[in-house]
Amino acid sequence: MSTNKLSPAGRRVTDLPEVKRRRRLENLLYTRKPVAHLVAEYRSHGLDEHIELYFLQLEVEQVLADEFPDAYEDHVGDWDDEEVGAEHHPMVTAATCSLCHAIALHNGGDSGSPLAA
Ligand SMILES: [Zn+2]
Repeated sequence: MSTNKLSPAGRRVTDLPEVKRRRRLENLLYTRKPVAHLVAEYRSHGLDEHIELYFLQLEVEQVLADEFPDAYEDHVGDWDDEEVGAEHHPMVTAATCSLCHAIALHNGGDSGSPLAA
């Protein structure tokens, strides 16, 4: 690097990693949200796949905790509420649950037969 001199124009360059970091944080948060939501839905329906997805969720959360400890602390409380909100009783159909929607669609088109594996 030959142009290490600090100048007003150079400041924009030094701000870039911060922008990248923020984008990475947002990406991680956006990735985590649907995964966590699916985990809660799969768990609600007693599907074993939630374990695999849960590991993915934990992985994303671990990266967040390592790279963005402050943001992790800020969000971890909301996540618990979101997950509890996304889960539902196995005997109840939830309007927010994509699996309930899929099952309802399936049952509507093909009266009551079990979902194909
Ligand atoms: Zn459901």
